[in-house]
Amino acid sequence: MKKNIKDYNLDELKQLMVELGEKPYRAEQIFKWIFIENVTSFDEMTNISIDLRNKLKENFDLHIFNIIQKQVSKDGTKKYLFDVLDGNAIESVLMEYKHGFTICVSSQIGCKMGCKFCASTGVKFARNLSSGEIVEQLLAVQRDENIKISNLVFMGIGEPLDNYDNVMKAIKILNNQKGINMGARHISISTSGLVPKIYKLADEDLQCTLSISLHSSNNKKRSEMMPVNDVYNIEELIKACKYYIEKTNKRISFEYALAKEDNDNLKDAKELVKLLNGMLCHVNLIPINRIENGKYSKSTNENIMKFRDYLNEKGIVATIRRELGSDIDAACGQLRKKEVKKCEPTQKPI
Ligand code: SF4
Repeated sequence: MKKNIKDYNLDELKQLMVELGEKPYRAEQIFKWIFIENVTSFDEMTNISIDLRNKLKENFDLHIFNIIQKQVSKDGTKKYLFDVLDGNAIESVLMEYKHGFTICVSSQIGCKMGCKFCASTGVKFARNLSSGEIVEQLLAVQRDENIKISNLVFMGIGEPLDNYDNVMKAIKILNNQKGINMGARHISISTSGLVPKIYKLADEDLQCTLSISLHSSNNKKRSEMMPVNDVYNIEELIKACKYYIEKTNKRISFEYALAKEDNDNLKDAKELVKLLNGMLCHVNLIPINRIENGKYSKSTNENIMKFRDYLNEKGIVATIRRELGSDIDAACGQLRKKEVKKCEPTQKPI
């Protein structure tokens, strides 16, 4: 396979131009064609000489994803299953809010974390996505819908901090003012709690939002839901989160998926208040998406509201996430799981 030119950041493209005997300013022109004009062939780069276009064609491709399937929800949420051109498939979801379009992207093909409530569990981990493949999800949806996406969340298939370098590179490409120019504040990274990587991220001096999939404030319950908790328990995770807040002065968002008769009672809410007391944070309560053969089912609306009200009364800002795409396979991994013919057991978590 030819190299994916979308894996090159602007500095690397400049270096490439030098190697090809071209002027470095050509790099900015190519960067704009790729990330602003969103071209699908090198021939569309009309201010580039035919000779350079031919050199690029010989060695690179633009890695244009094919849409295998697109589901459209009644609420406008759109879910894509993309063919990533090596026989694998990934998912991305487009959501429309008052403030604009948000894309939820995948960071890996499959996931090693094995969270019990997640449809990505049960399909074998294949590989990390490259930075170019992460950005192509946004570009492919922009082409398909003829829109400009203003926000991006790493909440699709995969653990973004388990693919740290490529995710960081993708963020810097998205961020580049000469390209997509998406401010880091408009990018959110969601992690299951890879503690060493949270410390590393805190030291990056990025303005991205960090979301932690917490889901329980009790180690026993959390380990049952998320095997990663056996490696990095809640105390270590909270310590890392406090470090992140101290370094970045940014509020952390804790994701809490409420599962019926599991983590949704008042005792759980009390434990959560104790755990997060005094932290610069927000709690995002998520009515759990039931997955095929999954152990967990959605909490009642009454319990979800009681849980939220209790947290708010105790001074922890909590909101209930709006359910989007509930009539399509919107939970991460569901669509891919259906489409991947050979469903092999997941690998051992981390
Ligand atoms: S919830 Fe996220 S980290 Fe957990 S298995 Fe699913 S994709 Fe992986």
